[in-house]
Amino acid sequence: MSDPTIFERIIDGEIPADVVHETDRVIAFLDANPLAPGHTLVVPKEPYERLRDTPPELSAEVFEAVRTLTPAIEDALDADATTVGINDGPAAGQEVPHLHVHIIPRFEDDGGSPIHAVMDGATVGNEADSEDIVATIVDELE
Ligand code: AMP
Repeated sequence: MSDPTIFERIIDGEIPADVVHETDRVIAFLDANPLAPGHTLVVPKEPYERLRDTPPELSAEVFEAVRTLTPAIEDALDADATTVGINDGPAAGQEVPHLHVHIIPRFEDDGGSPIHAVMDGATVGNEADSEDIVATIVDELE
């Protein structure tokens, strides 16, 4: 068995965290390296690595916590907006292999960027083979 992740150690109470919300199955705590004041991570207590691994009822609880926490954090920090995101897999920048949703309060003129900045704002164009892409995704969903 692999070593427990840092998040499992937080969930087990082994190391401290600034917990802002907790239920039987979900916990939310402040990020230790915040990109903005109030930067929060929402984490299922069961250690699934990626969205694809996470059972539907549990992912629903995670996203319900995100839905509830986002305006609460925004209002608590007097923020103007929020960026919500998941690094879902190492190639997307996931460092802790335990699913977590980042809630990052945003402020007018905070110098940050929209989610499009993860690819330096470059688009790959839309003319290529979108029909094939749609068909393949629809097939995968069946
Ligand atoms: P990711 O790159 O999406 O896997 O993000 C992992 C996040 O976990 C980073 O933003 C880290 O700052 C955060 N993090 C790592 N260790 C801790 C910790 N002990 N308590 C709170 N947040 C942490």
